[in-house]
Amino acid sequence: MSSHVIDVEPGRKSTFKDQVMALLPEGGNLNMCLTCGLCSSGCPATGLEDMDPRKFLRMAALGLDDELLSTPWAWMCSMCQRCIHACPMKIDIPGLVANVRRHWPKENQPKGIRESCEMALKHDTCSAMGTNEEDWRFVVEDVLEEIRETQEGFEKLQAPMDKKDAHFFLNQNSREPVTEPDEMVPLWKILHLVGADWTYGSKGWAAENYCLFCQDFEGWEKITQVKAKAVDDLGCKVWLNTE
Ligand code: SF4
Ligand code: SF4
Repeated sequence: MSSHVIDVEPGRKSTFKDQVMALLPEGGNLNMCLTCGLCSSGCPATGLEDMDPRKFLRMAALGLDDELLSTPWAWMCSMCQRCIHACPMKIDIPGLVANVRRHWPKENQPKGIRESCEMALKHDTCSAMGTNEEDWRFVVEDVLEEIRETQEGFEKLQAPMDKKDAHFFLNQNSREPVTEPDEMVPLWKILHLVGADWTYGSKGWAAENYCLFCQDFEGWEKITQVKAKAVDDLGCKVWLNTE
């Protein structure tokens, strides 16, 4: 570590070391990491919290579980997978990050991510902002009406809800209906102008899945199932995920 020292205790129990081994290509060992730094060079989280993917991997290799379970960097990886593509040994660092997150005690996980996951599990809308079906419908209808009345050329703009057999099922980030409802309109206009056959769903419309970010497997699966069912129930062909 460049600015702080971590003592490595011999014989210390390590969870993540085994997981690192499992993430290596077949027959590999940790010496396969060349410490070349290619992973770190293209990583958007490099430098945050004095950490980068190469250091994070090395900490796991050294059995520094306590440190892995306390460095906020574990929550700064965007899971973009750029490092895997850059790594000559194809080491799956986001896979390691995911394992580390899963083992963080829930009460220590970043509040925003944890609470958004829990909020999304409360309604079939899957909204991380806690928007229920009624409020969602109201916002869409309200914004649509205003645009039709005030914007020339968009008097017949559509924002269909639960339209059976529409080609596209469009989802929506949960924030817009609550904080910036007008931000939903540009996409409606594009779909209108190209004549797309689309719909929102009253259920399963929220685009994000915070349970994925905190590696809450049960929550992640439940939200994915609610969303998939919403698309299937309407008979839509394509799920348009805007996230
Ligand atoms: S790119 Fe791969 S081999 Fe190079 S330092 Fe990162 S993990 Fe190790
Ligand atoms: S997956 Fe995580 S560690 Fe890898 S490049 Fe992206 S942000 Fe960095």
